[in-house]
Formats: sequence, C-alpha cells, structure tokens
Amino acid sequence: MLRLYNTLTREEEPFAPARGNVVRLYSCGPTVYARAHIGNFRTFVCLDVLRRTLRHIGGFDVRQAVNYTDVDDKTIAGAEQAGVPLRDYTEPWIRAFRDDAAALGIETPEETPRATDEPNLRAMSEMILALERHGHTYRRAGSIYFRISTFPQYGRLARLDREGMQDGARVDVDEYSKDDPRDFVLWKAARPGEPSWDYGTGPGRPGWHIECSAMALRLLGDPPIDIHAGGIDLIFPHHENEIAQSEGATKRDFARFWVHVEHLFVEGEKMSKSVGNVYTLAEIAARGHRPSALRYLLLSSHYRKQLNFTWVGMDQAEEALRRIVDCLARLDDVGGAPASASRRTTDVVTRAQQQFRDAIEADLNTAAALAAVFDLVRDVNAAIDAGEVSPAEAAAVRQAIEDFDRVLGVVSLRQTEDARPPVPVEEIERLMQERQAARQRRDFAAADRIRRDLADRGVLLEDNPGGTRWKTK
Ligand code: AMP
Ligand code: ZN
Repeated sequence: MLRLYNTLTREEEPFAPARGNVVRLYSCGPTVYARAHIGNFRTFVCLDVLRRTLRHIGGFDVRQAVNYTDVDDKTIAGAEQAGVPLRDYTEPWIRAFRDDAAALGIETPEETPRATDEPNLRAMSEMILALERHGHTYRRAGSIYFRISTFPQYGRLARLDREGMQDGARVDVDEYSKDDPRDFVLWKAARPGEPSWDYGTGPGRPGWHIECSAMALRLLGDPPIDIHAGGIDLIFPHHENEIAQSEGATKRDFARFWVHVEHLFVEGEKMSKSVGNVYTLAEIAARGHRPSALRYLLLSSHYRKQLNFTWVGMDQAEEALRRIVDCLARLDDVGGAPASASRRTTDVVTRAQQQFRDAIEADLNTAAALAAVFDLVRDVNAAIDAGEVSPAEAAAVRQAIEDFDRVLGVVSLRQTEDARPPVPVEEIERLMQERQAARQRRDFAAADRIRRDLADRGVLLEDNPGGTRWKTK
C-alpha cells in the first residue's frame, strides 16, 4: 500500500483518497514573471511522479489543480516596466512554463487556473467576506487582514511556537499598518497604476495566500481535499496561511495530506533567483543536455532530501539513461530459441517488479526505484550475453520497463527526443526552400553547402522526381 510522508503529522501514513477513487490534489504553481528555473522544476517533476504514482501504483483517478500566480508584486512590477497590461505580460511566461513542463514529461493537470481569472477572483472575494463574517479579519486603509489571534491552531503545520513567530522572508511585511506583525494581508487596497478588482471587498487585489485557498476549494470541491503540495519553503508562511484562511472560512479541515519537496541546491546553496545561481531548461539544453537527463537527475534522489546540481551529475544522468535505452535495443534483437534455457530472466523481472513497487510505495523512493531498474538492466544484459533470453522473456522485460516508466517518465521522454529530428522542422523546411532557390539560379555550390550542413546535423535530403524529402540519419 502507498505510504506518504505527511508534513502535518511528521509521519509516513498509508494513503487513499477520502471520497471514492478520486484523489483531489492541489500543488502551488509558479509565479509567472520569469522563466521557471530547474529548482522550481525539481518540485514540479517530483509532484508529477506523485501524480503518476497515484494513478499507476495506487490505481486512483487524479483531479489535480496547479495554479499560475499571475498577480503579485513581481508580476505587477514586470508589467509596469514592460508597459503592457498584466495578462499580456504574464502570458508568455505561462507559455514558457507549459513548454518546459512538457519537455520534462510533466503530465498536464486537469486544472491550471490563473489567479486573475474572474471566477477565481470572485471565489477569493467570497472567501474573504466569509472570514469577515466569522470575525477573522480587520480593515486598514482599504486593505483587509487576517487576525491570527482569532485562529488558535495557527502554526500547527509549521510547528511554530506562537510567541516566537518571526516575520519570515515571504511574510507580507509592507507599508500597510497591521495590528500584529504576524497578521497577513488578504486583500490589498488599490493603488494608482496597479490593476484592481472589486467583487464586494472594495477595490484592490488579492494577497498571494488567498489565491491558493480559494482556487483549491473552487476547483476541487468540499474540504478536506486529499493532498496539498509544494516546495518546502512554502510550509511557512504560505501553507500555514492557506490553512488559516480555508479553515477559518469553511470551519472544516482544509487538506488531509501535506507533501513538501526539498530544494535543489548548487554548491551548497538553494537554487533561487535572489541568489542568482539559477539555470533554466534552455541553459541546460544549450550545454547539450537533454530534458530527459535532467528529469532523471531530479529523480535520482528521494524528494525529501536535498539534491545538489552539478554538470558531472548531468553527464552521469545521460549515461545512465543510455544504458537503459541500449538494453531495450538489445532486447529488440533477441530472436529465436535461446541457446540455453533458464528461468533466470523471468525471476529477475519478478524481483525487479517487487523491488520497484516497494520503493515507490515507501513515500516515493525514486532513488531505490531507479536502482531496481538498473539491477534489472544489469541482469538482463548478462542473460543476453549468456544467450539465455527467449523472445517471450524479452517482451516481458520490455513490458516491465514500460510499466516502471509510467511512473518515472524518463525512458519514454528520451525515446520521444530521439525520434524528433535534430534540427527543428521549420528550419529544415526553410533551408530546403533556400536550396531550391539556389538551384533555380544555378548556384549549385550554395545548394550543395546547404545539403552538406544539414547532413552534418543529422538530416538527409533525398531528391525524387516528385520533389525533395528529408529524413533523419
Ligand atoms: P515560485 O514560482 O517562486 O512560487 O516557486 C514555484 C515552486 O518552486 C514552489 O513550490 C517552490 O517551493 C519551488 N522551489 C523554488 N525554489 C526551489 C528549489 N531550489 N528547489 C526546489 N523547489 C523550489
Ligand atoms: Zn499556494
């Protein structure tokens, strides 16, 4: 049975959805003011494995929401600087995030709301008004605050000592006056030049925390939802505040399980934009690495352990993935009756399946799961060398690796990358047109150069009576 570590209880607990077979899962998404870095993607890739595990190991259906934080100080400042409306500013960053997520094999969640979608802003306003009716808020100069002293459970998730609570880096410490520095803003009064909305709260814009509470409950239904997840830095104050808001408004528990992913580090420091030690997926690709290798690297350690990013680690990830793909290619060549019959391969597959399932069910231990895959690859290579593998066994090994990969999502990603031409199709087509034009003006040297350059990059041009076609080497 699947066990997940629950930050709320600080224990591993057996997991099953509360209602029927559907897991209602909310993960805090990116703030869309820049290209997400690979530290952010550690969290999203690990949570993608959680999603895949719930589906393929747990046998559950998943209803997942991942939000885009498209209104906060950073997006507003960015839009102002670019001189464009907020949604025009955030749109390309949302698109970039979707492209990178797809390149990393992250499955598309059922819901990807933006905070500024009108139904979401309405839901936030309604939640704030409910909190107001329940006596959890106060107003100052058009802004609305959550009064922490009205919520005695505050600090339960982060295990805070209420007296010793400090304003953390992400607490809204700003020029608005608060009764207690620990109180946080729900709705910020409109300021000149900033976007603002009014669905009953008075003109202004939402605070960051209210966005997630309102969207989670609007899109996933009655609380408690099954799992709420994010990076470990979100435990406090973001998730603590989400709990206060959601439970203060509904008088029900907000989420049953809280799952938090540890950080990606670079040379001993957390990867973050403010430190300036970030890499994007584009930068990884520019160094000649495939997204599949990055996904592999991000899964090579348990999600609750810190992981240090290095280029040597990227090389090792490429190499490790190549070993799996090479083994699959060798299996394709297995034909006819084996030279010597043995049940070794069948036993090895059964053992690997058990090892893999045990690892993933133990709070998503992807490191141990990958070790199971590698034990299988090593043993199968040895069995092929010994001529012991029958075509039926080869098919069983392939099937086992395919099943593992439904959870890990690395091998299929690598195969998709391999099938894609090494030069973008639009560029191939443009170069083919240029070559055609060169031939028409009888500049055969130029035409040949284009053909040779493409061949060097792995794309072959074939001239037929019907026209020119391209194929990969
Ligand atoms: P943000 O766009 O800053 O709201 O962050 C999006 C997600 O990335 C959040 O769940 C963060 O906790 C997570 N995150 C940020 N930095 C890192 C890091 N270095 N390693 C892992 N996750 C991170
Ligand atoms: Zn959130």
